[in-house]
Amino acid sequence: MGSSKLLSLLVTLYLLAPTSISSDVSLSPEELTQIPVKFLDFAKKPEIFYWMVNIRRKIHENPELGFQEFETSKLIRAELDQMGIPYKFPVAVTGVVGYIGTGQPPFVALRADMDALAMEESVEWEHKSKVPGKMHACGHDAHVAMLLGAAKMLQVFRHEIKVLKCRLFCIFMNETAISKLLRVKTCLGTIVLVFQPAEEGGGGAKKMLDAGALENVEAIFGLHVSSLFPVGTVASRPGPTLAAGGFFEAVINGKGGHAAIPQHTIDPIVAASNVIVSLQHLVSREADPLDSQVLTVAKFEGGGAFNIIPDSVTIGGTFRAFSKESIIQLKQRIEEVVMKQASVQRCNATVTFDDKSFYPVTVNNKNLHEHFQKVAGDMLGIQNIKENRPLMGTEDFSFFAEAIPGYFYYLGMNDETKGKFETGHSPYFRVNEDALPYGAVLHASLATRYLLENQPKTTLASRSLHDEL
Ligand SMILES: [Zn+2]
Ligand SMILES: [Zn+2]
Repeated sequence: MGSSKLLSLLVTLYLLAPTSISSDVSLSPEELTQIPVKFLDFAKKPEIFYWMVNIRRKIHENPELGFQEFETSKLIRAELDQMGIPYKFPVAVTGVVGYIGTGQPPFVALRADMDALAMEESVEWEHKSKVPGKMHACGHDAHVAMLLGAAKMLQVFRHEIKVLKCRLFCIFMNETAISKLLRVKTCLGTIVLVFQPAEEGGGGAKKMLDAGALENVEAIFGLHVSSLFPVGTVASRPGPTLAAGGFFEAVINGKGGHAAIPQHTIDPIVAASNVIVSLQHLVSREADPLDSQVLTVAKFEGGGAFNIIPDSVTIGGTFRAFSKESIIQLKQRIEEVVMKQASVQRCNATVTFDDKSFYPVTVNNKNLHEHFQKVAGDMLGIQNIKENRPLMGTEDFSFFAEAIPGYFYYLGMNDETKGKFETGHSPYFRVNEDALPYGAVLHASLATRYLLENQPKTTLASRSLHDEL
């Protein structure tokens, strides 16, 4: 039989076959557990490890604030170019979205944030920040390096993963030349690499979403380094894991005058003081004690002399809660209390909420939690997966996890033999670079196994065959 006849016979046979043949193909449990193990061996190779370390240090030396991550973004694109990974740029000013795979469903995303903080680094080391007043004190430099590390191993292993996936299909096709052709073309789907700007208060994730970065994506994973857990461990929880929160500012206007003649003034200092005391009752007296909330007034500005009552006072702060209902209620009551309490003292007030910095609750999808437990368990051992308590901190990953199923977890980096690792936003914050391979491998393994376990019902092989023909 001529090769073209053989080809058309095989195609006919294949197309007549039930569509479930390929979609039912799955790796054995042993093969699945081997994926993270294999990735970890790769990531710990000195040439891969130091490549990640160098990327992280380069970014650390040149920290950039939210929506100004131009050099960081350039570095990411240069590395993606080197690896031959296509990407979209610019997305939300400096954001980059890379694609590994077929460009076809299913799509699964991995996220890294790129921005630094407006603070001075106090750690004395060779790769200290070279930009006065800016520092990577939250580990986002490491997040970028780890996602690039994941990209590298996904690119290197992409053919091997495909071959494993279509092995049964190849048996069905009797290992002919055609099946070899299909091996190369049969793919799993697409892994979307999301490098986002402005996590630290700028809501970069929201802008990425609005720009369509997660179009067709069905799940997203994100990680954060943590000095609370040892290196080689991870921590997470299903459901709400980080709070919703925002900032408010209130201007309380009175009438200034001589401090010794208060009857001719309307004192905004006393009014603002009463406002702050009343605000403290919102959590202590109005909220359910079992529903965690915080309201902190962290700013109070007014007056400049000992003998002058000022015209106005500005106060501001943050509010946090663990449910949509509670955060909306808190926001509404802040406005009411400020306005009404100020008027008790004959003052006028205006309240503004910084919508840009308002982040929803970060909720971890329960199915993805199970997926995470399996993959991280295979890689690190189940004893190294910790359950963390919910934190009142906020994360703009919450926008992603609100739009599609999302999962956010902590990557341990503590190692007492290397001195104390401070928590994020400290001028003494350090990253334990030994954690980099673990983060990169978790990214790569979570995405790969997600694709393997969530193949669409229609056969990818069928489509690939059509593509090839
Ligand atoms: Zn931070
Ligand atoms: Zn952070």
